[in-house]
Amino acid sequence: MQILKFGGKSLSNGKGLEAVLSIISKKVAQGQPIAVVVSARDKATDQLEAMLEKASKGTLVNEEFSDFKQYQSDGHSVDFSAEFSILQKIFDGVSLLGDYNEKIKDNTLAQGEILSAKFISHLLSERGIPAQFVDSRAFYVTDSLFGSAQLISAISQEKTQAYFKDFPKGVVPIVTGFIAANEKGETTTLGRNGSNYSASLLANFLNAEELQNYTHVDGIFTANPELVPQAKIIRQLSFEEANELANFGTSILHAKTIIPLLEKKIPLRILNTFKAEDAGTLICEGDSVGGIRAISVLDNYALIVLEGRGLLGKVGVDARIFNALAQAKISVSIISQGSSERGIGFLVANKDARKAQQALEKEFEIDVYNHDVSQVSVVENVGVVSIVGQDLADFDKPYNALVRNQVAPFLINNSATGKNVSIVIHKKDLPKAVNVIHGEIFEISKRINLAIFGRGTVGNTLIQQIFQAREDILKRRNINLQIISVADSKQFVFDPKGISTTQYDNFAQEATPYTLNEFIGLVQQHHLENLLAIDVTASKTFVENYLPLVENGFDLVSANKIANTIDYPFYKKLRETLAQYKKQYLYETNVGAGLPLIDTIKLLHHSGENITRIKGIFSGTLSFLFNTYSASEAPFSEILRKAIESGYTEPDPREDLCGNDVGRKLLILARELDLENEFEEVAIENLIPEHLREGSREEFLSRLNEFDAIYQEIKDKAPKGTVLRYVGDLHGDLSQTATARLEVKLVAVPESSALGQVKGADSIFEIYTESYGENPIVIQGAGAGAAVTARGVFGDILRIIGNK
Ligand code: ASP
Ligand code: MG
Repeated sequence: MQILKFGGKSLSNGKGLEAVLSIISKKVAQGQPIAVVVSARDKATDQLEAMLEKASKGTLVNEEFSDFKQYQSDGHSVDFSAEFSILQKIFDGVSLLGDYNEKIKDNTLAQGEILSAKFISHLLSERGIPAQFVDSRAFYVTDSLFGSAQLISAISQEKTQAYFKDFPKGVVPIVTGFIAANEKGETTTLGRNGSNYSASLLANFLNAEELQNYTHVDGIFTANPELVPQAKIIRQLSFEEANELANFGTSILHAKTIIPLLEKKIPLRILNTFKAEDAGTLICEGDSVGGIRAISVLDNYALIVLEGRGLLGKVGVDARIFNALAQAKISVSIISQGSSERGIGFLVANKDARKAQQALEKEFEIDVYNHDVSQVSVVENVGVVSIVGQDLADFDKPYNALVRNQVAPFLINNSATGKNVSIVIHKKDLPKAVNVIHGEIFEISKRINLAIFGRGTVGNTLIQQIFQAREDILKRRNINLQIISVADSKQFVFDPKGISTTQYDNFAQEATPYTLNEFIGLVQQHHLENLLAIDVTASKTFVENYLPLVENGFDLVSANKIANTIDYPFYKKLRETLAQYKKQYLYETNVGAGLPLIDTIKLLHHSGENITRIKGIFSGTLSFLFNTYSASEAPFSEILRKAIESGYTEPDPREDLCGNDVGRKLLILARELDLENEFEEVAIENLIPEHLREGSREEFLSRLNEFDAIYQEIKDKAPKGTVLRYVGDLHGDLSQTATARLEVKLVAVPESSALGQVKGADSIFEIYTESYGENPIVIQGAGAGAAVTARGVFGDILRIIGNK
């Protein structure tokens, strides 16, 4: 025989009910002997409890009761007069008295299961399937602990077997779950969710071959799929493993449910009523797979901490604590005590928190007075994440992942029995914490969530590069790079599951206005982890967002130079904040685009190498301009025009020619060497003749010829065998002073020198150090352009991920 159990949601009107009837019909058609155990339908138990509570306040419940009756009958002519009349009498009586007890409550709630079982047997009979309503109070006998009664096993088993011995063959018993009776015949219940237990008892007593528990979920998951979208179904669990899970809050697996099955090794299958063909999760006798099977979550707890110097070495303090709590009827969950005995922390249900505090304050009144106990503190709204199967030896991985994602545990507990670690955290962090841990343990690929700010050429190129490289990175490095948002200065597209190419292509239609706060709000709301913000804007103000981004868990990658070149106090503050939040900030493209310059300088500097000078051509644009001009007879304006037309310059070429950009790059390098220079200290030779510096872009562009005479003169004056180059130069007595001399100037260099040899729009950097002496390390190559810059940014992203 198979026992089929259906939960409340499965039995709700419409789809659920249809599915249940068809599952039963199929089994009957196959000739499979079955018995069915049902919960109350839909939310009946909660509704009955709510009506009872309301009635006890003296309020009429006519309206909700009439809705309840209508829902339960659902237009069918089933005779519910007895049940409805009991309920009516109870509600009337309770509202008159203004009170009720657990016994009355059990009698009230029990009607939910009775209505349900009667209803299902009625519908089956209507469809020509012989079925009979069975009231489990006829054979389940319990003690009189109303609300959560204890089964008297031997008597119940005997009565159940006797009852079913004479049960007509071919008729399907539809048995009420949840309810029983005490020896006086008064109605009791087995506790909330007790129908599962009723069903396993029946399976045990009738020696069923399998219990099929039809729910509204697909089975048991590695974590609650409502919290963790990546959760995976567990196909098979041993009874022992299921028991562990049950102890940590997996509600369909309540410990009581497993025991009667375990005793007779009856397999339990968790199935989804709405997808009855799926295999679900099978719990049966067998070897445990071992390792971590699932992560479970408990919420609604409070952490109580009792602290004090005077507790050290005192005997009996713990006994007093737990005595006081026991007397106040407060149950204690996780307990943690440091070996120094200076304090003890433990969890109680949130609702008991104040009561527990009062009980302890009373118990330790004199100790507080003597300063032996400093205080009894309460942290309400904490939750527990339990990693079932976690070996303490490998706990560093999930733990580090939590810390990286700014979840700070209040306490950590490993159970002395079994391999489990529980982490007590703030309730608001629960969803993020389960996701982070789940990602670390169960997901082969690590999700990295990228937020890209800036949709200019570099931004756009970067996004295309990411889309192209994604699959490869997933395959080769098990990293799932997803772009959760793309933003320009006013609008953004956000998708916590990652933006698709189509979504990005339709940016104009899909984008909505946003503020940084709203963006951060969304990130929190979706509990996203492993966050990385990328600044590919050219904005002067976007850096204001860096601190809040870091404070909210983002690492940073930037192609924007502003953050590194505004005042030194900000530079320092940003680094301090990064250190505080354990976040990284990379900006390789700030100087020389994708060339590995900053990384090299950092390595040298941090390894103790004394860098004495850095000199080079920092601007690809100006490199092109002077390389071409020096090698040609054409007037300066002609070459400048060519640079403008080829898109080598900024829209207003004066931004390149004024030298500020080179000055900024020089400053960035100086600060990389821990020098505290400010931008004002960079001596910059402005390449624009003074009278052309003001005025509109158009006007400027119409007067380019005025450059010619000036630059012809410079060229003529330069010594033979030299060429003109616009160089940045960082030097000085670097090991002795806090600042360097920073100069940006147009100079004539020997044609045969490294700087003189540079071609096209290349950049070149010479790094002079003590060990390398006269022969500098030279880094040369394309130092500008969207494609190389985007590659450089991508490189930074991968570097950060590599360190995670
Ligand atoms: N109807 C009861 C409850 O909701 C028992 C059950 O469904 O298992 O708790
Ligand atoms: Mg670079």
